[in-house]
Amino acid sequence: METVGHLINGERLDVGQRFQDVFNPATGQVTKRVALASKVTVEQAISAAQAAFPAWRNTPPIKRARVMFRFKELLEQNSAKICQLIGEEHGKISHDAMGELQRGIENVEYACGAPEFLKGEHSKNVGPDIDCWSEFQPLGVVAGITPFNFPVMVPLWMFPMAIVCGNCFILKPSERDPSSTLLIAQLLQEAGLPNGVMNVVNGDKEAVDTLLSDSRIEAVSFVGSTPIAEYIYKLATANGKRCQALGGAKNHAIVMPDADMDNAVNQLLGAAFGSSGERCMALSVAVAVGAGTAQALVEKMRTAMAALKVGAYSDASNDFGPVITRQHKDKVVGYIDSAEADGARIIVDGRNAEVAGYESGFFVGGTLIDGVKPTMQSYQEEIFGPVLQVIQVDSMQEAMNLIDNHEYGNGTCIFTRDGEAARYFTDNIKVGMVGVNVPLPVPVAYHSFGGWKRSLFGDLHAYGPDGVRFYTRRKMITQRWPSAGVREGASFSMPTLK
Ligand code: NAD
Repeated sequence: METVGHLINGERLDVGQRFQDVFNPATGQVTKRVALASKVTVEQAISAAQAAFPAWRNTPPIKRARVMFRFKELLEQNSAKICQLIGEEHGKISHDAMGELQRGIENVEYACGAPEFLKGEHSKNVGPDIDCWSEFQPLGVVAGITPFNFPVMVPLWMFPMAIVCGNCFILKPSERDPSSTLLIAQLLQEAGLPNGVMNVVNGDKEAVDTLLSDSRIEAVSFVGSTPIAEYIYKLATANGKRCQALGGAKNHAIVMPDADMDNAVNQLLGAAFGSSGERCMALSVAVAVGAGTAQALVEKMRTAMAALKVGAYSDASNDFGPVITRQHKDKVVGYIDSAEADGARIIVDGRNAEVAGYESGFFVGGTLIDGVKPTMQSYQEEIFGPVLQVIQVDSMQEAMNLIDNHEYGNGTCIFTRDGEAARYFTDNIKVGMVGVNVPLPVPVAYHSFGGWKRSLFGDLHAYGPDGVRFYTRRKMITQRWPSAGVREGASFSMPTLK
């Protein structure tokens, strides 16, 4: 059986003492095994990165950017292979995998602008013969720890930016779908990156804890669930590292009485069930304002959901695929059971989904639950499956209070034709990424991505301008070259200009 190993100092290392099964979630079969890096293996990667840093740091930004240009081309040339690996191990349908890759490539394109965004700021004559400027210097060796649900896009949020800024990188991908991530790291190597600048260690808690405690790691970017994000942030910062840790979500869509209901239903379908709801920006709660709105929404959703097609990644006519593991399927089904037990109505039930030819796959069908209350466990916690819950409220303010009081604040959206209501919503809602008639307001690569509240620990968001700041350290240089013959006496007061 094929082993998915590590990439250290430019070499594949497929050894290990501990391994974990990798499944094809559509068939339920084990297809590969992934090596789980030991402390020693992770330390080997850190040493390789540390050794590569001095030369990479001093490589001109334009040359670093040229590697990214070549990397972008290689990602495009290998897109079919990358998406196949995503499909085989994550389960998402080929068109969805292609979308993930494309959004990732846009981060590489942004990274190609490094000579521009690393320019710094300059002021001449801040004092007599004195000029000053700021530089954005790389941090050193930095690490990224990524989740299963975007095995290509989320790593591409991190390492192209970190590396083009002059850092060396250690990536710890999800152990559940590691192959596509390893492939893109190898393509970066092929694009001409010096050995040791990019390293991948597959693994679990042992690998992560080694990265968090090793003093040679300067910064950690994390994307995953909130309990782990909080753990990572606390440990990394306690060990003196810069950290950004993006966590889970519960994204609400407000459906106003004046919304174009057919459009809202179409948008909700894709945003709730696309990728089996395994997106941190998936819309998982529809908040209908008014009884009439709720009734119309539920009826139209019920009808539209009859056409939803769940199945294997390789059939592009499918809308979404299985969830990632059998345990995760049980968890999603458990949340539907709990909503029912708490008195909610299961309008469309995906618990017994079956796909012909894939009887052992981890499929959950699209599920619609009405009559949900804020006290229910299924409302309070992240389900991360193809489940849309409907809550009815009497006013937009009540809907906004619901969103503001939820522990997560990643994404949200309002469906309305009322510009004034939309403007009030975007201005006041306590959520990091907000859509108006846009169900998945995932920022493009030249903006930055991040939630509020317990959806993000740290200050700087991921990628875009915040990514540049996260992976660099500002240095201010103040320099005087006195004109010939000009000498100043000692001054003991704070330097000022009069
Ligand atoms: P996860 O938290 O289980 O795993 C994320 C990473 O942390 C993996 O690399 C994993 O190996 C590692 N990890 C897991 N348990 C650990 C432990 N005890 N100690 C140290 N490391 C550990 O998340 P997941 O299930 O892979 O991904 C789904 C979650 O990620 C969802 O909650 C989703 O909302 C979230 N997510 C958030 C964003 C965002 O941008 N906010 C984006 C994508 C996914």
